[in-house]
Amino acid sequence: MSNAHGGRRRKASVPDLVSGALDGNPVALARLLSLVENGAPGLREAMSLLAPHAGRAHVVGITGAPGVGKSTSTNALVSELRSRGRRVAVLAVDPSSPFSGGALLGDRIRMEDHATDAGVFLRSMASRGHLGGLSWAAPQALRVLDAAGFDVVLVETVGVGQSEVEIAGLADTCVVLLAPGLGDGIQAAKAGILEIGDLYVVNKADREGADTVRRELRSMFSLSGSSQEGWRRPVLKAVARTGQGVAEWADALEAHLEHSRESGTLDVRRRRRARREVEQIATEMLRARWSLAGGGEALESLAVEIVAGRSDPWSAADLLVGHSS
Ligand code: GDP
Repeated sequence: MSNAHGGRRRKASVPDLVSGALDGNPVALARLLSLVENGAPGLREAMSLLAPHAGRAHVVGITGAPGVGKSTSTNALVSELRSRGRRVAVLAVDPSSPFSGGALLGDRIRMEDHATDAGVFLRSMASRGHLGGLSWAAPQALRVLDAAGFDVVLVETVGVGQSEVEIAGLADTCVVLLAPGLGDGIQAAKAGILEIGDLYVVNKADREGADTVRRELRSMFSLSGSSQEGWRRPVLKAVARTGQGVAEWADALEAHLEHSRESGTLDVRRRRRARREVEQIATEMLRARWSLAGGGEALESLAVEIVAGRSDPWSAADLLVGHSS
């Protein structure tokens, strides 16, 4: 290994990044997250080095329709958690708008309050349409933040849709935010949001109609079942702008974590998350092998056969899978 600092210099920097991130260096952490976003080759080594450090953070998903107050609430919740001495990372993801890019999303996170706080780390990710997109990157980004020693990792998802639901499903605890005046009741039911929440917060409780939203939600719960996995899902009220109700929100998060730990659902969810991660990575590996190796020639010649009616997609897929193993 006499030339370890020669040709392999770039690779040698991955352990440095990992140890930097473990020491709380935000620059090293940001670089690791870029490895994730870019699917860079060093990611494999980084993940292996980070593995023994993972599994300690409470991963909290925050979701809800645009304008409901996710960004304001996240900010308020970070303040509350900091006052309890927790180190907090925020990952803001936008699965629904591939073209918005990091900058726009970055603008959305109004986190000036925490800009100089070393106990808070912020990162936004938008779908860039490469690799498996956010389904691929988000869980790995969570893994990095978890291993880096944050007590709580908040995942704020923007927009409503299936991919948002999927990302919320990565969390240990999922918070669904609602607000009066946005027709949330109907939206919630449509988006399958009634299934994903462990905790519901009716924000903007300073406005008229918060109690109505709360009542509607509870009556919908009474139809669909008010408890999940033995957990009675609370419906809280908050005013994110002033921080009112945010302490109760933080208490409920802790209670849910405790409940999940005791009931074993925490492990179940984390295994589910790990399974998805493996599936995503393996799928990308296969895809890369099929379509990148050889410039996609194998796939192209199969396509020619199908179009000519000499083969069908199933037989072609069999061949592709067979070829790859
Ligand atoms: P997001 O799109 O879900 O992230 O929502 P934002 O956090 O950007 O908030 C949308 C708007 O609602 C902003 O103008 C906020 O100032 C406002 N807002 C957030 N929380 C509250 C609240 O508790 N009460 C009131 N009245 N307005 C709020």
